[in-house]
Amino acid sequence: MNECNVESTQYCGMGTVISSKVYGAYANEALAAAKQEAIRLEGLLSRFIPHSDISRINSSAGISYERVANITYKVLATAVEFSKNCQGCFDVTIGPLMNLWSYYKQRHKTPSKIIIDKFLNLIDYADIELDANNNAVFLKRKGQSLDLGAIGKGYAADLILEVIKEYSITSAFFNIGGNVATIGAKPDGSRWNVGIRHPRKANGLLGVVSIVNKSVVTSGDYERYYIAGDGRRYHHIINPTTGYPADSGLISVTIVADSSMVADVLSTAVFVAGLEKGLDIIKKYSGIEAIMIDNDLKIYITKGLIKYFSVFEKTEVCILD
Ligand code: AMP
Ligand code: MG
Repeated sequence: MNECNVESTQYCGMGTVISSKVYGAYANEALAAAKQEAIRLEGLLSRFIPHSDISRINSSAGISYERVANITYKVLATAVEFSKNCQGCFDVTIGPLMNLWSYYKQRHKTPSKIIIDKFLNLIDYADIELDANNNAVFLKRKGQSLDLGAIGKGYAADLILEVIKEYSITSAFFNIGGNVATIGAKPDGSRWNVGIRHPRKANGLLGVVSIVNKSVVTSGDYERYYIAGDGRRYHHIINPTTGYPADSGLISVTIVADSSMVADVLSTAVFVAGLEKGLDIIKKYSGIEAIMIDNDLKIYITKGLIKYFSVFEKTEVCILD
């Protein structure tokens, strides 16, 4: 077998596109295992697959506990901890509001405040009951539902990297629907370059961040959005306090972290929180770096990225302490 096999692949998984590059003698086997892991995780965590752990918990809301796999239990217990730390900006019980908004979005309409408030009442992570002895989970009220959209892909990326490390892989790049996760550096020792999308130019890049052995995750208002008759942009990241798409002044938030799950959660939470409150949230975790872009396309970066972030346009970049 070739000592430095490189396997690149692109396929659909976890409801998105997964592309990867894996280097090593067992790259081929590692990629096959990664695909299997992605399928297994989607089968447990997707709320769109009828008998997944998450779907069963959602169907049994207000009725009974559901026993789930270890990894499902773990991600939910972790999600609750994040919710406690994110000052009302992150909540995995966001399901009912996601359903409501996607129903209206498909019709290019906006739900009334009365309907939004009715659904908003169902959003509360404190209603997730966790029974550690039985690996069982219960949502207290009928109509409540879990949605792992802001944590699942990151969690999956972390678990997939663990799987491929078992194949002695020391250099790999995964992109799971925008969640980038890496092992080590490129085989030649250089850093991986990750493009940061321009939030207002379709398919354009605003800059690039270069990383080694880190994950990069971006939340932006340019994904799954529509502009309504009132000129407002209705996108897919919802403020769990108001029930409306977040309008914090930030339009793109990129988090660089060791764990892709942490980066995934924090990108969403900081997007909802806005610049100041977002920095308070980030400070609760160690080793987190961020790139935040506001309504005026002004860029804010944390100190640790000074050497590793470059912008393509003449744009003001503000360094944060
Ligand atoms: P991301 O693209 O990582 O920011 O995640 C957005 C996805 O997470 C949405 O499509 C929803 O599935 C879910 N979501 C939206 N708003 C929130 C929120 N405030 N807390 C937790 N999950 C959310
Ligand atoms: Mg996220």
